[in-house]
Amino acid sequence: MIPPIARRFVAGESVPEALEHARARNEDGVAVILNLLGEHYDDPADARADTDAYLALLEDIADSGLDACISVKPSQIGLDVSDDLFEEHYREIVARAHELDAFVWCDMEDADTTDATLDAFESIAAEYPWSVGQCVQSNLKRTREDLDRLGDVPGKLRLVKGAYDEPKSIAYTEKSRVNEAYRDDLRFLFERRDRGIAVGSHDPGMIALADRLAREHGTDYEVQMLMGVRDAAQRDLAAQGVDVAQYAPYGTKWLSYFYRRVRERRQNLTFALRAVVGR
Ligand code: FAD
Repeated sequence: MIPPIARRFVAGESVPEALEHARARNEDGVAVILNLLGEHYDDPADARADTDAYLALLEDIADSGLDACISVKPSQIGLDVSDDLFEEHYREIVARAHELDAFVWCDMEDADTTDATLDAFESIAAEYPWSVGQCVQSNLKRTREDLDRLGDVPGKLRLVKGAYDEPKSIAYTEKSRVNEAYRDDLRFLFERRDRGIAVGSHDPGMIALADRLAREHGTDYEVQMLMGVRDAAQRDLAAQGVDVAQYAPYGTKWLSYFYRRVRERRQNLTFALRAVVGR
């Protein structure tokens, strides 16, 4: 069972709990992006099992009528086995989503996986237009060129700052430089695209910039935040009419995800310690 302290960041261990969480967020006007926790499988059977779990989840979402979609990790559905296995599973999941009028996001992992992930996205989005979205990371120096390349691809793009430690040769490592790259990429996205822009950030400055750019260009966008991070802001933005989606992980492999969230921010650590010592 997930301890209450981790429940802030994780929607539950089972699909019914995850769907129940989605229902509650929908009541606040917030859509939900469900992610089954799991990554870096080197056994094809594990990658197959999670692919099957996502296929079943898509059916459950379609049956439930919830405002929910899914987000998969490349290494969860086969990328650590081979590029081909990953693309085969990715295509199978998006094909089913397309039939069900559902939606699939793909997370972006470390920089060694960027080429294979973007190649698969580009090909699958062409086959199943507007059924799939890809995360891209502003800390990578290559991202501006990638955004240019993906400009006309019929899939959504989620812009994030980037969660992986990458070498200075390929990535901006100073926070201020990453923020500058994020702002530049956001401006570029609004200039280049007339739909399918997702702002994957909790940063009020970036969200305000997206709002300004959207008004200037007359382009829709959505804000995506993680479960347990600025939950009140998620509700407030939705109440103001902004499209907001919450990324909500679920599943039994919650411990390392919870640990990452807590390490990320001193405030979360204090919160965790208080819960442990009961103060
Ligand atoms: P930060 O630079 O961390 O924070 C900026 C400001 O945001 C802070 O000053 C504060 O005002 C506010 N803020 C941030 N956190 C909190 C908090 N806990 N409480 C209150 N205020 C806060 N990364 C990847 O590499 N690949 C992915 O596929 C990926 N998917 C993501 C999907 C979603 C929906 C989101 C939201 C993030 C994803 N990330 C992913 C993580 C991302 O790359 C960043 O590491 C993470 O979002 C932190 O950056 P930030 O933009 O939120 O702002």
